[in-house]
Amino acid sequence: MRILLVEDEPKTGVYLRKGLAEAGYVVDWIEDGITGQHQAETEDYDLLIIDVMLPGQDGWTLLQNLRRTRSTPVLFLSARDDVVDRVKGLELGADDYLAKPFDFVELVARVRSILRRGKPRESTMLQVADLALDVTRRRATRQGDIILLTAKEFTLLWLLMRKEGEILPRATIASQVWDMNFNSDTNVVDSAIRRLRSKVDDAYEPKLIHTVRGMGYVLEVRGSASC
Ligand code: CA
Repeated sequence: MRILLVEDEPKTGVYLRKGLAEAGYVVDWIEDGITGQHQAETEDYDLLIIDVMLPGQDGWTLLQNLRRTRSTPVLFLSARDDVVDRVKGLELGADDYLAKPFDFVELVARVRSILRRGKPRESTMLQVADLALDVTRRRATRQGDIILLTAKEFTLLWLLMRKEGEILPRATIASQVWDMNFNSDTNVVDSAIRRLRSKVDDAYEPKLIHTVRGMGYVLEVRGSASC
């Protein structure tokens, strides 16, 4: 379990990093709000522990910005035990709020509780008709048959299923699955879709992956007459 700690007070930072490491967590410690946001956006953490008053930008702003792209659970630390602050934190999408000074034992209990609840905003099971994708086990099945996918095919299918019914332009698929920019050769996308179809659609009805001419691809359940 990886935790990002954003805390500018050296004494608290050292104390928390040491304590959490002893409790079995991998802890990265950042001391300002700007770097903290960048770190939270570019690395994968199971939990963020964020102090409210930070140099650069405060914890509220950090969370507000982060929530545009990430749903990582957040525990706020604040010097003020104030209902207004507490509610504000929860409204911004924090999972918990702890006022300083706190007992370390209590902090660890809150951390465990948040981590047990998991990340409710991102489902790990996707289902469209009889096609199912288990993200945790990295496994796709259709009508109960296990479908073997490469890592890229898995990511592509995950994207299409997560955006069920939404037309995805080739450039979007290229950038999200292959990390390629807009001008890259999108034939890569077409051939990957072809391979994915042969595994997911060819032997089954109804077809789920559809070409939208001049636009891109969409995964959805349609009437039997469509392409
Ligand atoms: Ca502070």
